[in-house]
Amino acid sequence: MLLYQYNWKCGEMNKHEYICKITEVVASKSTCNRAIVGAVFVNEDFEVRATGYNGAPRGFKDCGEIGHLIENEHCVRTIHAEQNAIIQAAKNGTRLQGTILYSTYSPCYTCAKMIANLRIRKVMFKKLYTSGGGKEALKLLKEAGITIEFWSTSNLSPNNFN
Ligand SMILES: [Zn+2]
Ligand SMILES: [Zn+2]
Repeated sequence: MLLYQYNWKCGEMNKHEYICKITEVVASKSTCNRAIVGAVFVNEDFEVRATGYNGAPRGFKDCGEIGHLIENEHCVRTIHAEQNAIIQAAKNGTRLQGTILYSTYSPCYTCAKMIANLRIRKVMFKKLYTSGGGKEALKLLKEAGITIEFWSTSNLSPNNFN
C-alpha cells in the first residue's frame, strides 16, 4: 500500500504533497484492478473540489464481484476516475473551471477531451497512461492550453513534463 511508503515529519507536508497523498487514497478505492486510478480536482488554494476513482456505476456489480467486461483489450465496466469526479461535481453543483486535476495516471483520450472542455489550468499525474490514446491525450491537453506535470511519490516535487 503506497500510502505507508511516505516518511514525513509533522508540519513538513506541503499542500502539493497533501493532495498527492489524497489522490493515492482515492485511487485505492478503485473497483477494477486493471486500472487503479484516482482523480482529485483542487482549486488554487489546494482545496478539494471533487474526487473520483475508477469503478462501476453506482448500484452495479463491480469487476471484483463479476469479473471484467473486456472490449478491445480494455475493461469497459467502469466509469473512469476523471469522469466520476466530473459527475460528482455536476451532482453537487461544484464549479471545476480553473481547477487543477491531480491523477495517478494521465488521462485517456476521452477523458482528455472532457478535461479540455472543462477549461482547467493544469493536469498533474503520477504515471503516463500509454494505451487508450494516452499520448495523443497529452498532445490534446497541451493544444487546449492546459499545463501538464508529473509527480511521483519518491520525489514529490512536481517536474515539468516535456
Ligand atoms: Zn474491470
Ligand atoms: Zn479516461
